Amino acid sequence: MTTMTKEVWFVTGSQDLYGPKVLENVAANSQAIVAGLNESGKLPVKMVFKPTVKSPDEIHAVCQQANASADCVGLVLWMHTFSPAKMWIAGLSELRKPWLHLHTQFNAALPWDDINMNYMNTHQSAHGDREFGFIGTRMRKDRKVVVGHWQRPEVQDQIDDWCRAALGWAESKSLKVARFGDNMRQVAVTEGDKVAAQIQFGYEVHAHGLGELSDVVNAVSDADIASQLDLYHQDYVISDATWKESYNVDMLKNEARLELGMQRFLDGGNYKAFTNCFENLSGLTGLPGLATQRLMANGYGYGGEGDWKTSAMVRIMKVMGQGREGGCSFMEDYTYNFGAKDQALGAHMLEVCPSIAAAKPRLEVHRHTIGVKCDVGRLLFEAKQGPAINVSPIDMGNRFRILINEVDTVKQPAETPHLPVASALWEPKPNLSVAAAAWIHAGGAHHTAYSQAVTTDMIIDYAEMAGVETVVIDADTTIRSFKSELRSNAAYYMLKQGI
Ligand code: MN
Repeated sequence: MTTMTKEVWFVTGSQDLYGPKVLENVAANSQAIVAGLNESGKLPVKMVFKPTVKSPDEIHAVCQQANASADCVGLVLWMHTFSPAKMWIAGLSELRKPWLHLHTQFNAALPWDDINMNYMNTHQSAHGDREFGFIGTRMRKDRKVVVGHWQRPEVQDQIDDWCRAALGWAESKSLKVARFGDNMRQVAVTEGDKVAAQIQFGYEVHAHGLGELSDVVNAVSDADIASQLDLYHQDYVISDATWKESYNVDMLKNEARLELGMQRFLDGGNYKAFTNCFENLSGLTGLPGLATQRLMANGYGYGGEGDWKTSAMVRIMKVMGQGREGGCSFMEDYTYNFGAKDQALGAHMLEVCPSIAAAKPRLEVHRHTIGVKCDVGRLLFEAKQGPAINVSPIDMGNRFRILINEVDTVKQPAETPHLPVASALWEPKPNLSVAAAAWIHAGGAHHTAYSQAVTTDMIIDYAEMAGVETVVIDADTTIRSFKSELRSNAAYYMLKQGI
């Protein structure tokens, strides 16, 4: 999933008013900032310096080049000096890549003893960036604004997060999701308008019959299955009892066949995400357990019961979170623990990604009892403690909404010897009563994409790039203000969408 080939372009605006000496300084300062950002080691992309733009033609040209570049996922724009903003209208009108307005200054502290008008005219982003900011707002352009000295860690962290959102948006526009079978019968929230989703988010969703998949799965060779079992042996804790029982080993072979077959099918069609459903398993040994868990761990998006929206979201969030601790998984709010602090136990019937595990997962074979009843190999683990988010993209019928709930994942207070699935126990913010009520008012799904690597701001930025509403349930949420926000958003997005 390495995407260091992707770039964000750093473009500095100025004009010819100041003469060549100032412009030399501007270019040198910009190069130093780009080098500093690259050397911070945080960014998931290469920050690329572009020559200072000083005229409408130069601005238009760099915007067109960014549109045409397959590697450029976004731009950082900064006005070191004053760049009269009518010069930006033509370029910004046509710019289709997301942009971040970095409101910074090359020097941090003022040189009190030496400051003169020459210094003031060179370091004038304080007003140059306001002139530029006006035109963005005047043109109703959504963009990120990050303010502060460029060497501050919190500024670099915001740039890092935004670059990850831009990577997610680039992934969204090129993603293909494979649906094996259809959505679970009668379920509402996993449905949606796939044409509208492609127009809004860019990703394609295609269905395949189970016969197509089972042909590929059944063609996996015994030798390949044997090497896969060696990998399982290395990657997981497997009891001697499991290894010694040939029946259990056969169940693990089923998963190896499913994993390799599904991966070949997905790679053959350039799919990076998939769905399946326990109601559509013809030709397969059962609902894939370990197989799906491993595919998710290897970067594929997944949604259960045909949930293609959540599958796409899992993949996009995996791309956003790459290289960071914390992982990302398909998740479901499963059952509650009402107590001193109300908690939700998240899990799924099998498919929780081991990228969120607190420790090396255990691989066990247990009976699966929903849909096709059979024994299935699956990974068991508890999720890492710490802050996390649950993200749910839903189809409102006339538009999409993305919900985020910030949660704290905690240690489970006791062992769960009879629970045959991986799980995460969390305390939603601000508390379960408010969080779940807000979630229900907003129409959030029971399925989510769960992550400790992706932040709320990254999802907000991604949704803004897609032009989609986001609502956040966090420590500050109250039901009264949340419902009011939903009503305001309904009006805003209808107006924005127009006819
Ligand atoms: Mn489900």
